[in-house]
Amino acid sequence: MFGMPSRTRLLYHGFDTAHDREPRTIDSDLDLAVTEFAPGSQKTKDKRVFTAIGFTAPIIKVRGRLRPATDNPLPWRRWMLRCLRCHFTKTQTTQPTETLCPYCQASTTDQNQPFTAFEVAAPAAFRTAFDRGQNARVDTDLMYGGASTLAEDSNITPVQPPGSNTAIRLDRKGTVYRVNDRNKLQFHGAVDNITSERQARELAKAAPEDRTANSKPAHAHRLRLGELFRCGWYP
Ligand SMILES: [Zn+2]
Repeated sequence: MFGMPSRTRLLYHGFDTAHDREPRTIDSDLDLAVTEFAPGSQKTKDKRVFTAIGFTAPIIKVRGRLRPATDNPLPWRRWMLRCLRCHFTKTQTTQPTETLCPYCQASTTDQNQPFTAFEVAAPAAFRTAFDRGQNARVDTDLMYGGASTLAEDSNITPVQPPGSNTAIRLDRKGTVYRVNDRNKLQFHGAVDNITSERQARELAKAAPEDRTANSKPAHAHRLRLGELFRCGWYP
């Protein structure tokens, strides 16, 4: 993506007014970015602490004006079936209808919901309110969770080692996901155009669940800073 290794993701945290408004960024591997740059997370750079508030498409300059490269900050989206009891994991493009885990029969209606279906997404990039950042970390009681490592189900026939109650298989083409589900709270939101620092700061102050309601489409601002999206899970 724009000369970056495909797994590298940027956190946009402002623009360098001394250098033609070049975007200021911090980069991270996607594995780490799903927690380090998740909305609500804080990153320190040059003794300033920046708080991520959402997602954006990469920000580029077109004829001297900053704009998101596309209208879609979440180019990769799927539905994921996941069983917390037996760790069955499967992704698909359509909304699943299954209510029972195919391996252990855990149900979507069981207590604590061991078997669930939800949307996952991989952000193209992350963003702050494009503010100046804080002098120190701000204490927060919001939970952003850690990332779980999940292996996609496979068609390879499992082998049962003699004398064990275990079945194992090796899939050399298997897919492994890093998923941050905000400790099962998930991320919620909508695509919106955030065009002013003030608007973005208001969003950043709101609790994640309230941010969508607080975000209003803005039109009459000369600088379109990028789409904001808070949503689902992402690997
Ligand atoms: Zn299961």
